[in-house]
Amino acid sequence: MARMSDGWQVIVVGGGPAGASAAWHCAQAGLAVCLVDRARFPRAKPCAEYVSPEGSRILDRMGALSPLERGGATYLTGMVVHAPSGGRIHGEFAARHGYRGFRDRGLGIRREFLDALLLDRARAAGVEVLEEARVTQLRHDAHGQVNGVDIATDTGTRALQAPLVIGADGLNSVVARRAGLAHRSRWLRRVAYVAHYRDVRAMSSLGEMHVTDNGYVGLAQVGDGQGHGQGDGDGTAVTNVAVVVPTRFAQQQRATPEAMLEGWLAAHPVLAKRFVDAVRVTPVRAVGPFASHARRAWAPGVLLTGDAADFLDPFTGEGIFAALVGGELLAPIAHDLVHTSDMTARRRIFEAYEHTRNTTFGGKWRLERLIALAVAWPPLLNRAARALSRDRDLADLLIGATGDFVPASAVLSPRMLLRFLSSALP
Ligand SMILES: Cc1cc2nc3c(=O)[nH]c(=O)nc-3n(C[C@H](O)[C@H](O)[C@H](O)COP(=O)(O)OP(=O)(O)OC[C@H]3O[C@@H](n4cnc5c(N)ncnc54)[C@H](O)[C@@H]3O)c2cc1C
Repeated sequence: MARMSDGWQVIVVGGGPAGASAAWHCAQAGLAVCLVDRARFPRAKPCAEYVSPEGSRILDRMGALSPLERGGATYLTGMVVHAPSGGRIHGEFAARHGYRGFRDRGLGIRREFLDALLLDRARAAGVEVLEEARVTQLRHDAHGQVNGVDIATDTGTRALQAPLVIGADGLNSVVARRAGLAHRSRWLRRVAYVAHYRDVRAMSSLGEMHVTDNGYVGLAQVGDGQGHGQGDGDGTAVTNVAVVVPTRFAQQQRATPEAMLEGWLAAHPVLAKRFVDAVRVTPVRAVGPFASHARRAWAPGVLLTGDAADFLDPFTGEGIFAALVGGELLAPIAHDLVHTSDMTARRRIFEAYEHTRNTTFGGKWRLERLIALAVAWPPLLNRAARALSRDRDLADLLIGATGDFVPASAVLSPRMLLRFLSSALP
């Protein structure tokens, strides 16, 4: 895509999955796109690094699935959730409920590799990518519409102009803050500590969540992007270990990230046993507090996508999917916006974006909040584990909904809720 003589049509801020997908889809829609990220890729990102089965659909469309499946990723066949009571919820993606994902398995892949690959796909689609360029400010036209950004680089600051700015700059998005859209949730304030280990005992092709009265840990095999990792725990992949605790607990501990993660594992004997031979192979990275939800996913001249628009809790592990799908949703909206100058018509298009997001993600947000409530309130999760360990089909359905290919409405239907309640009774 040649650069427009009078500037870019779209500036995407952030080159994670949301930004790369938004930029790629906008370029495919014929728009001249410039993407800026403050980091140099490949860069690490604290994450449990699981991509849901339906996430593969967008990866495939972007031409990123084959390189991942050829050797960069592990396969996850389902999830097992261990409740504080010791109860287990075991669900698989390939099940007899009749719903099929784009793939019957999720992927485990180091973010250094995944994000750099997606950014390369955006470049290949014609997107100009500026790395190590930090957006500091939004620029406005005479009508108050955002029409560009200021960026700071090693060589100084400069302005980039475009009739549309896409904020895909993650948690604490500078675009959301400068556009007056950021809203920090007081509920579910948590922080996470993430690292990779070799030789964790008894790992399988299932992702694991272990919930305690004091946070939870996710364990999953992930590929390193170097041609290793195909299959389930074949010894060449590493284990992603992500401990998530309430912010208040982390503040009380006043410990380093290493001490937080290792102390938390040591305090849980069943898990500690599995780490006796384990070797940590990456630094412990801390992230949080998270839980943020933009008041609205747009402002005049701005669209938000990915974590910049909404992120609750990593438990259900679908942020990457939402980030990838977000690009697909917003590209036609971006196309209409850059070709419309009438203010009233533009406003209608922005409102249509909000509507599309609510229709696409609304059911999932409700399910995600219910799950987050159960995780934060152990008696509820213990009850759910009892119900779902007695009803494997229902567990598969729930895991399929978290895998983004079973509609949330299928799980939240009155019939399923009744079935759940009857299994939960003693
Ligand atoms: C502990 C934890 C575990 C998780 N596990 C999973 C999981 O297993 N599966 C899953 O699907 N999701 C998971 N998530 C969620 C997932 O990580 C996010 O939803 C996903 O990364 C969102 O992508 P994004 O592109 O919106 O943001 P990011 O991936 O955060 O990318 C934002 C980009 O913006 C750039 N940026 C930021 N500020 C600026 C600026 N001012 N100027 C220029 N660039 C800027 C950053 O450098 C970064 O590259 C997890 C999250 C956490 C915290």
